[in-house]
Amino acid sequence: MKMSIVEKILKLKKEKKAVILAHNYQRPEIQDIADYVGDSIELSRKAAEEKDAKIIVFSAVDFMAESAAILNPDKKVLLPTLGARCPMAQMLTVYEIKKWKAAYPLAPVVLYVNTLAEAKAYCDICCTSANAVEVVESLDSETVLFGPDSNLAEYVRRKTGKNIIPIPEKGFCPTHLLFQPEDAQILKRKNPDAVLMVHPECTAEMQEIADFIGSTSQMCRYARESNEKRFIVATEEGLIYRLRKENPEKEFIPAYEEAVCPNMKVNTLEKIYTALKEEENVVRVPEQIAKRAREALKRMFELK
Ligand code: SF4
Repeated sequence: MKMSIVEKILKLKKEKKAVILAHNYQRPEIQDIADYVGDSIELSRKAAEEKDAKIIVFSAVDFMAESAAILNPDKKVLLPTLGARCPMAQMLTVYEIKKWKAAYPLAPVVLYVNTLAEAKAYCDICCTSANAVEVVESLDSETVLFGPDSNLAEYVRRKTGKNIIPIPEKGFCPTHLLFQPEDAQILKRKNPDAVLMVHPECTAEMQEIADFIGSTSQMCRYARESNEKRFIVATEEGLIYRLRKENPEKEFIPAYEEAVCPNMKVNTLEKIYTALKEEENVVRVPEQIAKRAREALKRMFELK
């Protein structure tokens, strides 16, 4: 009998001692076959814990697979689609970082994990959207260079009261920019009992009307632990699938149905199968870059 694509992937996975990690924004069918679903850093940590795994299939975008490769140098990390690139990560070049460092030589550089490895190699410490405030608060400096997301930078500025200088000046996630406060207000009026959850990559105007601001992992925890029953969700639509699956008795309303990250969605079951079968699209980070980027990531982990 002919095997389905899911059966073929699961068979190969077992034979090759592979783990499949899927970001919260991946297609539902990918989330369903993954060993773990989570945000980028949760997944990289999971990968490091999988002592027996030889191969990691990281179904997400470039910078996430790079972080997994940096943190797991003894494993083969595969990105199902080589063209899965995060446009926000591309917005911050090494040239730009050096330019801002020259202008503010005493200011530490904090980079969101949504950056390429070569950029991470030039920062003092990394952060995620879940811990950006704690990371910046831990630094003994009132002025901090922060990139590449200017909306997350603004969130951190409001929370810490520090002088946060966004690098580049207007880095952004095109998907999270799609959320408009006017649309969210209409939804709130129609659903007065629903909690509006907003990702900090959304604009400051969206953040201002939020009932809860958090990363994807924080949204999952909040929805699970809260007594509230209905939620309006302002982040990439892939998270809605996970939220509904984990909380079948609760209701999740997308703040904007078209908020789809095309870069995340280029991964498919077929591409996962081919990457694993051929062991292709191996993510490689030159060791001199990986070493420095690893230190910046480890500094972040040590804070917890
Ligand atoms: S949702 Fe935004 S930040 Fe995340 S991968 Fe897509 S473009 Fe990049």
